[in-house]
Amino acid sequence: MAYDKDNVFAKILCGEIPCDKIYEDDYAIAFHDIEPQTPIHILVIPKGAYVSIADFGQNADENEITGFWRAVSKIAHEHGLMENGFRSVANTGVHGGQEVPHFHVHLLGGAKIGPLVQKGK
Ligand code: 5GP
Repeated sequence: MAYDKDNVFAKILCGEIPCDKIYEDDYAIAFHDIEPQTPIHILVIPKGAYVSIADFGQNADENEITGFWRAVSKIAHEHGLMENGFRSVANTGVHGGQEVPHFHVHLLGGAKIGPLVQKGK
């Protein structure tokens, strides 16, 4: 799938759409999800134009990959997610339920979360 440069996270990255930003470095930014599913719901996105986790892993360079995952780890530590744990999710494509076609990792925490998927579904 080709990258859609008009997706909402591309607009957040260039400042066209505001966000509640909590972190930024050379490789990533993080902000609170506009519709939080848990008490803490953070989205971490790479600055580069990648559609999905698979696109990122295949096409990003080593500095981008290292920088991005270091940012994820830093945010998890700095936002209290390590105390009781959290869930990280990267939805991909139609079956994964991805709404925004710019790679992002959800960090979900602040409460115990149920099963990842309903059994038998
Ligand atoms: P996906 O379903 O693609 O994995 O998740 C996209 C997430 O982006 C959703 O949880 C949705 O609430 C969030 N989202 C969509 N538009 C915006 C926005 O304009 N600002 C913020 N902060 N989050 C958004």
